[in-house]
Amino acid sequence: MSKQVVVVGGGVIGLLTAFNLAAKVGQVVVCDQGEVGRESSWAGGGIVSPLYPWRYSPAVTALAHWSQDFYPQLGERLFATTGIDPEVHTTGLYWLDLDDEAEALAWAERERRPLSAVDISAAYDAVPVLGPGFKHAIYMAGVANVRNPRLVKSLKAALLALPNVTLREHCQVSGFVHENGRVAGVRTADGVLKADEVVLSAGAWSGDLLHTLGLELPVEPVKGQMILFKCAEDFLPSMVLAKGRYAIPRRDGHILVGSTLEHAGYDKTPTEDALASLRASAIELLPELKDATVVGHWAGLRPGSPEGIPYIGPVPGHDGLWLNCGHYRNGLVLAPASCQLFTDLLTGAEPIIDPAPYAPDGRLG
Ligand SMILES: Cc1cc2nc3c(=O)[nH]c(=O)nc-3n(C[C@H](O)[C@H](O)[C@H](O)COP(=O)(O)OP(=O)(O)OC[C@H]3O[C@@H](n4cnc5c(N)ncnc54)[C@H](O)[C@@H]3O)c2cc1C
Repeated sequence: MSKQVVVVGGGVIGLLTAFNLAAKVGQVVVCDQGEVGRESSWAGGGIVSPLYPWRYSPAVTALAHWSQDFYPQLGERLFATTGIDPEVHTTGLYWLDLDDEAEALAWAERERRPLSAVDISAAYDAVPVLGPGFKHAIYMAGVANVRNPRLVKSLKAALLALPNVTLREHCQVSGFVHENGRVAGVRTADGVLKADEVVLSAGAWSGDLLHTLGLELPVEPVKGQMILFKCAEDFLPSMVLAKGRYAIPRRDGHILVGSTLEHAGYDKTPTEDALASLRASAIELLPELKDATVVGHWAGLRPGSPEGIPYIGPVPGHDGLWLNCGHYRNGLVLAPASCQLFTDLLTGAEPIIDPAPYAPDGRLG
């Protein structure tokens, strides 16, 4: 295909979409209003699983499973190509004192996932730094986390090395250009950029851009704050989650604790209240963190969507315009499958999974 495709937004979704498309189409241009990979995709925790996978619809599960299987090879490929290791770190995940343990176990059996109830003493043996008083645990082996700031850095480096990809940073898209009854490019601060196909992957900002066409896309910013500790490399052997808060160990001993869920528009300011609340959760989960210094505290804007089901596919009534956005709390885990499915749809290949649940058709106001 000799097409030129413009991708609006260079988070993990836009970057991986561009990476996949580059192998199939003539030219790919990625426009980002800031630096690529510096918004939600940088701010997230990077757990390669939905936080409570059994609470999601089969549509989210299908993308998550495909992606989870694919992540190790994606990490290896990016590391080999760019020298930047996204550090796909398989640690497993313990959920503690869940209210819906039975549902979780039933889901795991149905979906054939390696999640099972474990004796609480086994959880304490495996994670000796776990706080006192937890009564129940379930454990899923094989769950990884990805060091998402490095993932996006590595994707950027991979794209910069491709002759048919252009990254245009600090290039805000303000609207779409129509020609002969179809979308034929985007309007930017630097002028019009022509394209055969335009992909909207602008994360939490996607709804605003679609609004310029009179369409209502129910994607809204949902603020999330995280804090970071630095501990010994072997401090925390596994990810742990209780009462909606989780701790994620990176390979070098950094421990991320998240997260808040706030509806505050596009405000990304970290707050003292959230810091205190996250620190209290961290100490309840892992009491030794009481003496550890918080070395980072930030906020990001998740692209919130109904039920967290992303929009992947063509925009009805606007030929040439496509969506890949609205991944809410799971954009890092869902990225590989979403971007492969998207590429299949745009290039007319056999889709990796049934695209129907993600189709924008019928889901826009
Ligand atoms: C605290 C927190 C914890 C999280 N933890 C996890 C986790 O553990 N696992 C997981 O899977 N997911 C997690 N997520 C969610 C995940 O980070 C997001 O779903 C994902 O990063 C969304 O990627 P994206 O590319 O759609 O959006 P973004 O990364 O936000 O990228 C959108 C890009 O579009 C650009 N843009 C916007 N408007 C324009 C415009 N008009 N013109 C040009 N460019 C534009 C922006 O500058 C930005 O770079 C977390 C998120 C947060 C905030």
